[in-house]
Amino acid sequence: MDFDSMTFPLTVDISGVQYWIGDEGPYKLGMAATEFLAGDRDGELREELKELLRTFGFLLSPFVDGRAVAGKRFNLPEHTVGCTVSYGYRPISGGAYFVERYTVISLRDFLFAELGKGILYGNSPRQCRLCGRWYFHEKGNRTIYCDRVAPGETERTCREVGARAVFEKKIQDEDAWKIYKRAYKKYYARLMKGTMTQEEFKAWADEAAAERDKALRQLQRKKISETLTAEIFRELREKLNRK
Ligand SMILES: [Zn+2]
Repeated sequence: MDFDSMTFPLTVDISGVQYWIGDEGPYKLGMAATEFLAGDRDGELREELKELLRTFGFLLSPFVDGRAVAGKRFNLPEHTVGCTVSYGYRPISGGAYFVERYTVISLRDFLFAELGKGILYGNSPRQCRLCGRWYFHEKGNRTIYCDRVAPGETERTCREVGARAVFEKKIQDEDAWKIYKRAYKKYYARLMKGTMTQEEFKAWADEAAAERDKALRQLQRKKISETLTAEIFRELREKLNRK
């Protein structure tokens, strides 16, 4: 979408989640705001859109960062969008779409209406959890990564790299749980045999659960080397089995 060549007032025909700008389209609601944020334009409008997304994007939860919204945001004057709306038909072959015809008078008004309506539909710009760039999130899409080539990669996309990382973390979590379960069985058998008292077992179990959770928290860290991972497992094994 070429924002620089747009002339105002601009006529936008919206039908459900899709829309047309003059003869061009159909686009999906949320796409223009995404392209705007993904571009390199700086300035007030960019910040305003991000603010709008942060404030009202919680409707898209859990698809946006679960950041708390400061109460004072809701006390700000509402964003007004300068536009007029009429209803009309947009002919297509064999029929016509019934459309809401927005006439907007500035880029800001267009983007505010486009993002606002997008949010209501569940579409929005989203920031890739891996590279931080903006991409178009469509309602129902659960991905948290974009499909551009990932940083430091030549072919693999953020989605591929991200999915792999999530998978690896899951395996690591399972390994930590395995160490814990194995040790639990061992000490529980001692309790059954009477070589460990109820109190001793309880003390062990409390400490073991805390150590397990600590290890799981460490494994959740974003970047973690193989050496460190091995060290976490070694330490957990040792702490759980030292009695
Ligand atoms: Zn990305």
